[in-house]
Amino acid sequence: MNIYKQIFKEIKKYNTIVIARHIGADPDALGAQFAFKNIILRLFPDKKVYAVGNPASRFKFFGNNDRIDDICTNNALLVVVDTPDLKRIDGANPSDFEYVIKIDHHPVIDTFGNIEYIDDNACSTSQLILEFVYANKLQLTKEEAELLFLGIVGDTDRFLHDYTSSKTFELVARLLNETDINFTSLYKKLYHRPLVEVKFEGYIYSNLTVTENGVAYIKLTDKLMKEYGVDSAAAGNMINDLKFVDEIVIWIFLSEDVKSNLIRANIRSVGPYVNELASRFGGGGHIFASGARLKTWEDADKLIEAYDNLMIEYKKLN
Ligand code: AMP
Repeated sequence: MNIYKQIFKEIKKYNTIVIARHIGADPDALGAQFAFKNIILRLFPDKKVYAVGNPASRFKFFGNNDRIDDICTNNALLVVVDTPDLKRIDGANPSDFEYVIKIDHHPVIDTFGNIEYIDDNACSTSQLILEFVYANKLQLTKEEAELLFLGIVGDTDRFLHDYTSSKTFELVARLLNETDINFTSLYKKLYHRPLVEVKFEGYIYSNLTVTENGVAYIKLTDKLMKEYGVDSAAAGNMINDLKFVDEIVIWIFLSEDVKSNLIRANIRSVGPYVNELASRFGGGGHIFASGARLKTWEDADKLIEAYDNLMIEYKKLN
């Protein structure tokens, strides 16, 4: 049986369904999560469907996350979207559930689902949810279509990144034809930002260190971010903007997050794969877009050095 039909069969069986995604919610995770929740509830209004995880204030237009403290999960289905590793599932533990389905587009890390549907050639998990919809001959409401469109646009950075494929365009064209969403107006929701963030981006560009091997990095302390009036997640939203710079092959933003007592690394590459090295630092991700959470600035220095060495090896071979 087609995997999407199999997933739909399991969804029909369960009265309680929890949909989880990764910590540090982004548009793709949220778009996939809330679209899936809304589709199930619309088709089966008597089911209880929860979308769990810590809310992301920047992206609250996707929907409000639910809490599942009081519900019994023993007989419930858990669907985990956009999350390859157990440690990054936000707000649910697969072992508490009767049945678990994973739908993801990251390279495999942990296996925790009874059904694991992974397509690491897909540009986004929202694309996979869209494939699920059409494979099961379902219709989308305008609101669901908007959520999935935002998810796809978020992860592809407006169809810029690798894994944006003809399939992506075919699916999105069908979505636009069938739901007639006003997609240009949606960009405002995703990309509008305060001037302080633009000034902060200016700081980053002016103060980047670029090694002779093509690794660019910047350390962003809590103090600096407070001076600029931006939050610790701000830099992460700007990382993709350095994709086409002559001197830069790998680039790393290191942002201090005092609330969580960690340093967040956003790592990107247009050369060597970066996810394996990220996982050695406790992180992970896609081959050209990875992340990690570090404990100290010494660890941050080690990470920079490791990527610089990776570039030295890469240059020898290319
Ligand atoms: P980001 O730089 O936060 O946009 O993350 C880029 C990619 O790396 C995403 O696919 C994330 O799922 C993954 N990623 C980010 N942080 C971590 C982490 N701490 N552990 C594992 N994967 C991560």
